[in-house]
Amino acid sequence: MEPMFSPALHRQRHQFIIDFVKMKKPKKVLDLGCSECVLLKKLKFHREIELLVGVDIDGVQLKRKMHGLAPISTDYLQPSYDQLCIELYQGSVTQKDARLRGFDLVTSIELIEHLTLADVELFSEVVFGYLTPGAVIVSTPNSDFNPCLPGLVGFRHRDHKFEWSRAEFKSWAMKVCWQYGYVVELTGVGQAPPGQQEHVGFCSQVGVFHRLGGQEGYNMIDEDAEDVFSYTLLYSINYPSLHDNNILRRVLVSEVVYWVEQLKRRWIAEQTGNRDEAVSLCQAEGEGEECFGTSERHVDTGETQTAACGAEIQTLVEHQEEEDGELFWTRSQPESDKRHRRVSVPLAVLWSCCPKVSTLSGSVSNLRLFLMDEPAVKLSQDSSAVLLNYQEQDHEDDEELHKDFEDSGYAEASQCPHSAEPEEDWGLNV
Ligand code: SAM
Repeated sequence: MEPMFSPALHRQRHQFIIDFVKMKKPKKVLDLGCSECVLLKKLKFHREIELLVGVDIDGVQLKRKMHGLAPISTDYLQPSYDQLCIELYQGSVTQKDARLRGFDLVTSIELIEHLTLADVELFSEVVFGYLTPGAVIVSTPNSDFNPCLPGLVGFRHRDHKFEWSRAEFKSWAMKVCWQYGYVVELTGVGQAPPGQQEHVGFCSQVGVFHRLGGQEGYNMIDEDAEDVFSYTLLYSINYPSLHDNNILRRVLVSEVVYWVEQLKRRWIAEQTGNRDEAVSLCQAEGEGEECFGTSERHVDTGETQTAACGAEIQTLVEHQEEEDGELFWTRSQPESDKRHRRVSVPLAVLWSCCPKVSTLSGSVSNLRLFLMDEPAVKLSQDSSAVLLNYQEQDHEDDEELHKDFEDSGYAEASQCPHSAEPEEDWGLNV
């Protein structure tokens, strides 16, 4: 049988929430009756959200699905400054829990029809009277639409305790607004067949509530509300963020390790008179970025910049050799000494040549502080430069490494989008 809606109705309901989130940019979002966490899994990509919480009475289902909310490899490989914490609670929407107060948005998608009418009253009191979010979106089946659903006898799902007409939904919504200080806009998703929209309305009816007084309203409401904690926290995860100093250091060090090696190679290519290689190296890096696709390494790969960076590296090498007596490579040294030589890349050069390094560190002195106790990076005695062993085979080693990486299949796997899991549709798959 042809599906009645395209996209499927449950997707349209979730898209309605996503559109709202894109428009209003809430920071704290709570999904009541989150079921298999399908909506949460979509919302976690909207990184204006900083706290994303799901609640469901069915703890077994939450435990089965919660790991799908964990960060994926790119969240670790390319953390941003955005912060995101995801939490899941087992509990009933008829009970209060102080941890869920003051959210910007609470969603309740196809939940209230699973409650008795007495529990709907408790739900209203808990959500609108106690949690007092800035906005609430409630969706529930519209029974006016049921005659349009082929073969439907009774309710759309065996667990539904009621299905409201548009008039019944409106009456409940108006009462909630009057009691708890909200305004509501009534709308829906799932268009009726042509010519019947006005007569039967949307398949899922949706109420979008906004608290009167906006964000400030929260502070005025019930400051003394008791601090009850009736829910059980089942899952909590903090996504990697560059606001975490350890993560910032890790990303910065990996950029530094990569770029000092690139700068060294360019400089050596220039010193050995292999200008073609210096330029082709730059081009190969451009291609390399695409192959790996896991890092946003931006560097000006133009010849002029390369030459400028190389010149400074060389100057410093010669200068330092005189000053502190460390072994540095110069053009005059005999071929046999190469394996003992060091190349010195000044932090100032690194900072000015590599935009990601400069963005992450903020200043050369910060960069120095970050690298000072870092075992993966060897600094010169005055901590003004990174020292590297001079090894001509580095280039080849790197290529081998790239080859291994590609052969491992990881390069491709890391670019594959996550396979979509089949979603359960409550409500007739309409
Ligand atoms: N919101 C989900 C979505 O958009 O994919 C679908 C919700 S599903 C139709 C209804 C959910 O409400 C079920 O997961 C059920 O366990 C949950 N539920 C029922 N009574 C509840 C209660 N008193 N408190 C919290 N969750 C409840």
